[in-house]
Amino acid sequence: MDLILAYLDQSCLDALYISTRNTLTHAICPRPRLVGICATMTDPSVWRRDSPHRQALSIFLFLWLLSSSLFLLLFGGLCYLWNFDKSLKQHPRYHKNQIWEEAQQSLLTLFLSTILTVPILLTQVRGYAKLYDFGDCTVSATYEVAQVAYFIIFSDTCMYWLHRLFHHPLLFNTMHKKHHRFIIPTPFSAYAFDPLEAWVMSLPIYAYSFLWPMSREIQLLVFGCANVWSFLIHDNRQQFHTVHHKNVQRNFGQYLDIWDRIAGTYADPGWYLRGKADVIVSSK
Ligand SMILES: [Zn+2]
Ligand SMILES: [Zn+2]
Repeated sequence: MDLILAYLDQSCLDALYISTRNTLTHAICPRPRLVGICATMTDPSVWRRDSPHRQALSIFLFLWLLSSSLFLLLFGGLCYLWNFDKSLKQHPRYHKNQIWEEAQQSLLTLFLSTILTVPILLTQVRGYAKLYDFGDCTVSATYEVAQVAYFIIFSDTCMYWLHRLFHHPLLFNTMHKKHHRFIIPTPFSAYAFDPLEAWVMSLPIYAYSFLWPMSREIQLLVFGCANVWSFLIHDNRQQFHTVHHKNVQRNFGQYLDIWDRIAGTYADPGWYLRGKADVIVSSK
């Protein structure tokens, strides 16, 4: 995240914050009742690049506007155009205004879960995670390469069991059902979760860098790939996660099917979906 902030500060945020500070100062400082706010607005330390207030706001703006909401609309749109089988819109379980419903829930979730995620990324930016620059000899060459596999195994393990937990009737009915009401999902359902559940499910992605060394560059790469993956598993091709939307007791894994095979919840998508496309096992 600090790599992105450094780039954004230089390219646009410095100018944006100077302009914002000037506008607010002119609007607020002439009013005697707002003298306290004026003092904060004109305090140079609040606007410095290394100010935690500015860093938190920058992280929020980047996460909410660029990396999630805009990405949802653009990449979700492309996945819909390229991958989604439009004949599925005739399916009886496809909602009348489903894309609008999915996009609305996803955008709300992205806004609220981003607010909860900012403190985690701010902690990283301020140096409390085990982040390092790729190739700076902090770790062995083997670990430099293997950390991607370690990250996938760690986050997939956590997500599998968290996902199972969210299928407990209590959590399912209060939170996870918001995602499973889309039995024929489109890519716009990628973030159509309860905001608190979405935040909890994303914690393993951030946790790795606090537990083990992780290169900043690799973190950006895996964050980007995880984002893209969320769309690809919801474009309703005949694949692993499509089965989970049709049968809520099968295929809980996010990236791998290892835990589903170990725990006996695996269903082969080719076998399951062949000739069973209309078989729906309703939620608990
Ligand atoms: Zn899903
Ligand atoms: Zn589920």
